[in-house]
Formats: sequence, C-alpha cells, structure tokens
Amino acid sequence: APKAKKEAASTGAVQIGIEYKKDVDFPKWYQQVVTRSEMLEYYDVSGCYILRPWAFKIWQEIQQWFNNEIEELGVENSYFPMFVPAKNLEKEKDHVEGFAAEVAWVTKAGSTDLEEPLAVRPTSETVMYPYYAKWVRSHRDLPLRLNQWCNVVRWEFKNPQPFLRTREFLWQEGHTAFATKAEADAEVHQILDLYRQVYEDLLAVPVIKGVKSEKEKFAGGLYTTTVEGYIPTTGRGIQAATSHCLGQNFAKMFGISFEDPQGPLPSGEARPALHAWQNSWGLTTRSLGVMIMVHGDDKGLVLPPRVAAVQVVVIPCGVNSKTSEEDKAAVDERVADIAKQLKKAGIRSKVDDRTTYSETRDANVIQVEDWKDFVPALDDKKFCLIPWCEEVACEEEIKEKSARTGLATEEAQDDKAPSMGAKSLCIPLEQPQDKPIVAGETKCASCGKDAKRWALFGRSY
Ligand code: AMP
Ligand code: ZN
Repeated sequence: APKAKKEAASTGAVQIGIEYKKDVDFPKWYQQVVTRSEMLEYYDVSGCYILRPWAFKIWQEIQQWFNNEIEELGVENSYFPMFVPAKNLEKEKDHVEGFAAEVAWVTKAGSTDLEEPLAVRPTSETVMYPYYAKWVRSHRDLPLRLNQWCNVVRWEFKNPQPFLRTREFLWQEGHTAFATKAEADAEVHQILDLYRQVYEDLLAVPVIKGVKSEKEKFAGGLYTTTVEGYIPTTGRGIQAATSHCLGQNFAKMFGISFEDPQGPLPSGEARPALHAWQNSWGLTTRSLGVMIMVHGDDKGLVLPPRVAAVQVVVIPCGVNSKTSEEDKAAVDERVADIAKQLKKAGIRSKVDDRTTYSETRDANVIQVEDWKDFVPALDDKKFCLIPWCEEVACEEEIKEKSARTGLATEEAQDDKAPSMGAKSLCIPLEQPQDKPIVAGETKCASCGKDAKRWALFGRSY
C-alpha cells in the first residue's frame, strides 16, 4: 500500500494491484480501483463509505473552484440543521411524495421515543424555506442566494455504488429566491454551466446539457436542467448534477412573499403580495466516481490534470526514427525549457512520452428515428437521440419495451437494478442542427405521435 500511495502521488496512476480488466469485469474493476488507490473504504453500514484523504482532496479542489465562482455570482455560504420536522417536510405534496420512500427518521433519543419524529434531510428545501419566508419581507430582501456544503441522507433501495449512489453523500446545495422568473431562469443556466465546467474543465469528463422530462424532473419543481455524463465501458448514462427552477410552488407553500414594489393601488388599497421565484441546485461526491469510471484504466486510477498531483505532462511530438540527433536534442532542450517555465508558474509538471488515448462521447450518441434501431443501439453501448413526443406514458412505454429485450449480462452486473430499460436522460439544450423537428410532420420514434424535440435516451445508473 505505501508503494501504491507513493506512485499515485507522483504519477497520478497506481501501477500495482488491479486484478480485473476494465472491459471484462467493470464492477469488480471499479471496486478495486477505488479501494486500492486509497480513495475510499467500505464501511459497516451498507451504502455508506469512508472518503479517504486522496478522494477528499479532490472534493476540496472542486469545492474551492465552485465556491469562488458562486461567490462571484453573489451567492453566500451558510449552514442549516440536518433535522426536519415532519410537518415541514410534508408541506409540498409532490416534493414529499418524491422523497418519502428514501427518508431516514430519528424516532428515539436513548430509550425514549421522541414526541415528534425528525427526518434527516434528503435535501434542504423544507429546512430552509420556512426561514426564507421569515427573512423575505420586501423586494429589497431579494434576491436571497444561499449555498451550503453538507451531507444529506437518502435511503436508496437501488444497488449502492461507491461515490455514484450512496445513502449518505456530500454535496453543495444552493437555494435562491428572486423577485422575477427571468432572474431565476438566468441563474438556473449560469449554475448549469458551472457544473459543466466542473466536469469538463476540472475533471475532464464531457457532459451533455439538457432539460429533464416531466417524469424525471425534481419532485415539486417547475423544471430541471441537468448535465448528463456517459460511462464508455458500460454505455450507461449518469446524471452528473442538476439545477432546478422550483417556480413559485415552494414559495406558495412556505409563504415566501413580498410586497409588490409598485406600491398600493391608486385607490390606496394594498396590492396582493407577490411570491418569490426559486431555484435549487446540487453537485455531489458522485462526481468523483464518474471521473474514476471514465479515466481509470487497467493499471488503476488516472486523474485529470486540474485535480491531480501532476498537472501538466509535456509530451514531445513528431520525433521518430528518422529524426536527426541534432533535431532530437533541440526538441529535448525545448521540452526542458517548457517544463522549467511551467514550474516557475507554479504548475506541477512532468515530461513524458507515453501515448494517451482519448474517449469521444459524441460518437456514442446516435440519431434514431426508427424504433427498430433503438434497442440494438443501446446494446451497442450507445445513447439514442430520438424525435420525441415528450409524453410521460410514452417514456414509460420506452422503458418497458427496451427492458424486455435488454442485455442480460448487464443485468447480471448490477443484479439489484430493477430493469435495464432506457429512460430519458435529457432533452439536450443543443438540438441537432441538421435535422430540426418540423411541427406536425416529425413523428415520435416510439409512439408515432407528433414529436416536440430531440431527446436523449439511454440505460443509466
Ligand atoms: P437532486 O437534489 O435530487 O437533484 O440531486 C442532486 C444531484 O445529486 C443529482 O443530480 C445527482 O447527480 C446526485 N445524486 C442523487 N442521488 C445520489 C446518491 N444517492 N449518491 C450520490 N449522488 C447522488
Ligand atoms: Zn412518443
């Protein structure tokens, strides 16, 4: 183990001890990589894991970057308690319905039953908003933009997976309130782009930005935007982070309202109070798992530059057997010079001539207009971009139709997964330019009704 640690610290890759091949037994490979790289340790409670310093450091890098960005936007950090009184949790009907099955409850203190059982936050809308209602009086109290870094508990019944699906996880949750919908909409997309940057710029994992379907949106919200990741080895999608517009639903339930800035009516009568427009947005330690799954190889952990101990590897190119000694020396000199400059600039660098491989995600998204091509594409580890009617019933049918013929081997790898049918991952913000949907003409690839937009479907975690 000390050797692994030392190598990990110096090259970003653990060279020893991975007995499983990524392509052959992905679940076992993943389990070994996360434990043997000393990122994570399994814990006595199923679905809970210990984040060791190596992983926590990367989380802190993400934290630091994200904190700077949201601070620029005017968001402030704060901390709210982890217990939710039942009556608060139950205030927003759709919200409680969406989370009820996963909520953990504290019912006893020692041997005494609590008078009122307390929920452990699965997310903090119902913790924070009663106080937003108290703090927001006039439009001058808006926008109210708070974030907290904390743990939440969701007693997931699906198969737990280190980092990806855990019962307790770390995250940041931003909760904001604005006077107008336009301001809320703008923030939803600003935050979504920060999430894209965390994945693409810090973790070097490409993601697709989109909007969730009605079926998949956040419980109680107006609409959900998402960045969706792709795990090449399994061909499965993963919801990488979400930025929700809650509309005025929660504001109405919790009474987050303010006086109309227009003042009283000409008659002198007060105008009715206005409800705030709210957003919530979260990024979790799932991000570390996605990074490991995408970049790790048969030797083990591979870390992207921004978060790795070695940030820049200088690779000389164009040198081959025909290159003269003189030219080789010139290249070496130039490489050494670059390395020196990098060091001076405070960038951890290393000269290396290994070849790297690239993972292209776009090649794994294919446009499917005919249902018969849908399941074969999934079985080929692809995402399917289909013209879609956007109806909940159609989404449910797609899941069923694609599960029946689903990959048996994939099922076996995650044997507690209820089904490997495809679900909608998102409706990409960037729609295909070459084939725009023609209203009344383009048909849904599944049910044949009029299609609204291109939507991305895939098997997912
Ligand atoms: P939500 O508040 O439900 O939108 O969750 C925010 C983000 O948390 C999602 O977009 C997922 O990326 C992530 N997430 C959800 N459930 C889990 C879990 N059990 N473990 C780790 N991350 C999760
Ligand atoms: Zn349809």
